[in-house]
Amino acid sequence: MIVFKAEQWQKIGSTLFTAAGATRSNAERVAESLVDNNLAGHDSHGVIRIIQYLQAIEAGQLDPAGEPAVIHETPTSAMVDGKWTFGQVGAKLAMQKAIEKAKVQGIAISALIRAYHIGRLGEYSEMAHDAGMIAMVTVGGLGQGEVRTTGGVAPYGGARPALSTNPISFGFPAGSEPPVMSDFATSAVAAGKVKLARAKGEPLPPDCILDRDGKPSTDPEDYFKGGVLKTFGGHKGYALAVVVDILGQALTGADKCSNPEGKGSGSYMVAGSVFIAIDAGLFRPREEYAAATDAIIRRIKAIPPAAGFQEVLLPGEPEQRSKARRLREGLGLPEKSWAEISEQAAKYKVDLKVLTD
Ligand code: NAD
Repeated sequence: MIVFKAEQWQKIGSTLFTAAGATRSNAERVAESLVDNNLAGHDSHGVIRIIQYLQAIEAGQLDPAGEPAVIHETPTSAMVDGKWTFGQVGAKLAMQKAIEKAKVQGIAISALIRAYHIGRLGEYSEMAHDAGMIAMVTVGGLGQGEVRTTGGVAPYGGARPALSTNPISFGFPAGSEPPVMSDFATSAVAAGKVKLARAKGEPLPPDCILDRDGKPSTDPEDYFKGGVLKTFGGHKGYALAVVVDILGQALTGADKCSNPEGKGSGSYMVAGSVFIAIDAGLFRPREEYAAATDAIIRRIKAIPPAAGFQEVLLPGEPEQRSKARRLREGLGLPEKSWAEISEQAAKYKVDLKVLTD
C-alpha cells in the first residue's frame, strides 16, 4: 500500500487533472470529491478513479474543461446538463439547486444528464445535511444493454445483465446525534469494489456475482470475463434497482440524450441522476423533527449487540469513523494502482515526488 495524507492526494489528483486539460476549479472539485470518498472508507470511489478519469479524458469521453449548466427550471425543479465533464461537478450544481429551491418551497428536485461518473452518492446527501435538508439521490440507466461499459447487473432470476449497480442514498439530519446517511449500490457489491478486489488479488464474498455461464463465483476475474453482478437481498434489491432505473432514465429523459459534441461514453450517455432535497421542518417545527430523529437513533443504538457483533451502528457511522481515523492516518492505494498513476504522471510530465514530499 502507498499511503499519503489527504492533502497530498488532493494535490496529486488536481495536478494530474489540470495537466490533462481540466480547468482549475473542475480539477480541484473532482480531486476533493475522490479524497473525501477515501476518507469515508469507500476506496472503490476514491483516488483509484484518477486512472479511469484520465483514460476517459484521453479517449475524448470526458471533457475536463466542461461547465455544467441549468438548462430548464421551475420553482421546485432544475435540469442540469453535465456538459460531459466530471460528474462530480454537475452533481454538486444539481444538489445545490435542489437545496436552494427546497429552502423556499420546502421540497425540490434536480436532475443531471450528460454527465460522467458522479462518484459516491452520500457526498451529495451530506451537502443537503449541511443545509439542514433531508436528501435522496439516485443514479439510473447505466445498465442499458447496447451501451453498457461497466457494472452489469442481472435482474432477479436472470443470468444476463439488464440493469447497473443503480445506487441510492438518503441523508437525514438529526439534532444532537450524528446524521443518518444510507448510501449503497442496489447490486450485492458496487462494481468499483469488484475492481478493487481484483487490484488487491482478493476473492469476493459469496453471492455477489455469476460467471459468464450464470453460475455463482467469488473470483473477481469472472466478472470481467463476461460475468454479471447480482442485486442485494434477492428480489427486494432488484425491485429497488428497477425504481432507480426509471427515475434516472425515464423521468430525466436521459434515454434520449443528444450528444452533438461526440463526448460521453457507453452507458453514461443514457444515465441520469436525481437529487431530492426536503426541508426537515416541512411538516413540523424543525426542532421537533430533530428531537424525534434523535429519539429513533437512541432507541436503535440502545439495542445490545447480537452474537458476533460489538455494537449496533447507524447508517453513516462507518463513514464518520473512517473519516476521523483516515484524516490522522492517511489514505492508502494498492501498489498496482499507484504504478498506473505513476505511468499517467510520467505521460503528463507531472513530478509526483514534488507533490508528495
Ligand atoms: P456498502 O455496501 O459499503 O454500504 C454502505 C452503506 O451501509 C452506508 O450507508 C453505510 O453507512 C452503511 N453501513 C455499512 N456497514 C454498516 C453497519 N455495520 N451498520 C449500519 N450501517 C452500515 O456500499 P456499496 O453498495 O458498496 O456502495 C459504495 C459506494 O459506491 C456508495 O457510496 C455508492 O453511492 C457508490 N456507488 C456509486 C455509483 C455511481 O454510479 N456513481 C454506482 C454504485 C455505487
